[in-house]
Amino acid sequence: MSDQADSSAIQDGEDLLTILCWIGLAVATLDAFVQPLPLGLTWAALGMSYLAGGIPSAREALRELWSERKLDIDLLMVVAALTAAAVGATLEGAVLLALFSLSHTLEHRAMGKARRAVEALMQLRPETALREGPNGVEEVPVADLVPGDRVVLRPGARVPVDGRIVVGTGHLDESTVTGESAPARKTVGALVHEATVNLEAILTVEVTRGLATSTVAQMIRLVTEAQAMRSPSERFSDWFGQRYTVVVLVGSILSYFGFRQVGWDPGEAVYRAATLLVAASPCAVVISVPAAVLSALSAAARGGVLFKGGAALESLAEVKVFAFDKTGTLTTGQAEVTGVAALIGTEVDFLALAAGLEAQSEHPIAEALRRLVLRRAITPLDVGEVQSFPSEGITGQDREGGVWAGNRRMLEKMGAALPDSLSRMINGAETLVLVGRGSMLLGAITVADTPRDAAREALGALRGKGEARLLMMTGDRAEVAARIAGMLGLKPDEVHSGLLPADKVRLVDDATRYGKVAFVGDGVNDAAALARADVGIAMGVAGSEVALQAADVALMAEDLRKLAAARRLARRTARVIRQNLTLAIGAMVVLVIGSLFFDLPMPLAVLGHEGGTLLVVLNGLRLLADPIRVR
Ligand code: ADP
Ligand code: MG
Repeated sequence: MSDQADSSAIQDGEDLLTILCWIGLAVATLDAFVQPLPLGLTWAALGMSYLAGGIPSAREALRELWSERKLDIDLLMVVAALTAAAVGATLEGAVLLALFSLSHTLEHRAMGKARRAVEALMQLRPETALREGPNGVEEVPVADLVPGDRVVLRPGARVPVDGRIVVGTGHLDESTVTGESAPARKTVGALVHEATVNLEAILTVEVTRGLATSTVAQMIRLVTEAQAMRSPSERFSDWFGQRYTVVVLVGSILSYFGFRQVGWDPGEAVYRAATLLVAASPCAVVISVPAAVLSALSAAARGGVLFKGGAALESLAEVKVFAFDKTGTLTTGQAEVTGVAALIGTEVDFLALAAGLEAQSEHPIAEALRRLVLRRAITPLDVGEVQSFPSEGITGQDREGGVWAGNRRMLEKMGAALPDSLSRMINGAETLVLVGRGSMLLGAITVADTPRDAAREALGALRGKGEARLLMMTGDRAEVAARIAGMLGLKPDEVHSGLLPADKVRLVDDATRYGKVAFVGDGVNDAAALARADVGIAMGVAGSEVALQAADVALMAEDLRKLAAARRLARRTARVIRQNLTLAIGAMVVLVIGSLFFDLPMPLAVLGHEGGTLLVVLNGLRLLADPIRVR
């Protein structure tokens, strides 16, 4: 937080210097055009203008030069102003510095705003919490809380930790984390996140994660690290700025000799060389890309979509194929058990075993089973040494030996057989979970999942008018996949079923022949595909055990329309970058030609140059206006 205080103090100092620079300029202008003033006063005003306008840039330029051996565009501006002053164009030099420092200040303000959007989350993190202890409730620093502690949330207060509700029901405003403005109703068992607001109820929450690993802590880390993962065009504009600064400096010096050659006297030639220096400075080009990218990243973060830097943003704009995991991504994580058939023993014993096996699994199937036994008040059996086999099932040991649950692949691996009596369950369009002991099948459970509410709409938006191909990839059976695909408006050839995690990776690779591929998953069984895709998109990241790190783009809320909105934002950003670069380079070319061949006066060069820079920044800032919110 001290960083933030520092940067705003710097900002205030910068503002003050800019104002001083403009006051000096105003006095000098008065003297030149309206009413001659005492010579001393005019010189003092000009001096103030040069110092206030030039010192920050000069310091910045020298720092870059010494510490990083880089030539900065700031240097060009200072050199141009000093050169102008040296040939007697003191007022022009002051105008240049005043406009330059104004555009610098505005730019820093705008960029600071964009950058701070997520850093502001830090200020929303409460410092203390009300912990239930042996002697009642006491206020303790949040940093002292450990998983398992119980804290009390008062109505209207910010949630101090990530945790699970153990007492109470109420609404939470989670917009800080998920970008979702409608309050979320939560009851016992639901997760709550640090920095969200508990609206009206008194809730008791059991801490699930410490301060350093909370969702918000991870969001902050991701966004801070993201600054390092710059996009190709960000790198281009940096690279360009570097090389180009040298070219402009050398070019201006050469042009001085050129102007002398064609007959200008020394003072005029220096003036024109300085004008060229201003005209050719690439300020606008350098700022074009970051102005757009940072604005877009911050708009996205406010809408609950985190990009791992500008690179992910630019890639998303170019994606040609969106591949989706089915379970938990296109369908809700809330599957329901629809049928139970115990072949041996009672249904209660059978379910107790199955629920015991699935007790620790994060698969939606497991959750459906856990909810079922909770409703029927069945106590799950103790099952140890649980091991999960992605897209096959799960194995474990109870007191009598090895037990398992899974699909037909698992059944075959265990050497068990499917009796005809189960044919009705096997042939339906629901997910089949077979449960067995050794090579003996104990029974079967069917589970049905349903598509997410807005999934169909979101897929339609992504598909657009054939702008992108869609694919569904699932480890589930073909019948289930076809049923869900039908409900979502996916065509049969867009569906791949019965896949292992490695198959998903292979299909992602295959799809790259159409262009960039995005894989959208919930991180359960599909981390490999997320990593392999050009853009890995993880959904419902708030509170999930999947680290935000697994993906390039994280949708905090479980709403696929956010993905469609993020894609629109990414494409708009790409357009704004193109506009900016065209404008910036175009303006530069016009000004350079003007100053080389048409005797362009320095004040016009200054105006054109700084005006272009401002336009580019403002154009980028348009992206800050919230396009990611969905209702
Ligand atoms: P998807 O690719 O749609 O996300 P998964 O790869 O997660 O699906 O799972 C594919 C299939 O593997 C499931 O339909 C189920 O039959 C089986 N399976 C995976 N995990 C489990 C589990 N924990 N318990 C039982 N079956 C499982
Ligand atoms: Mg899945």
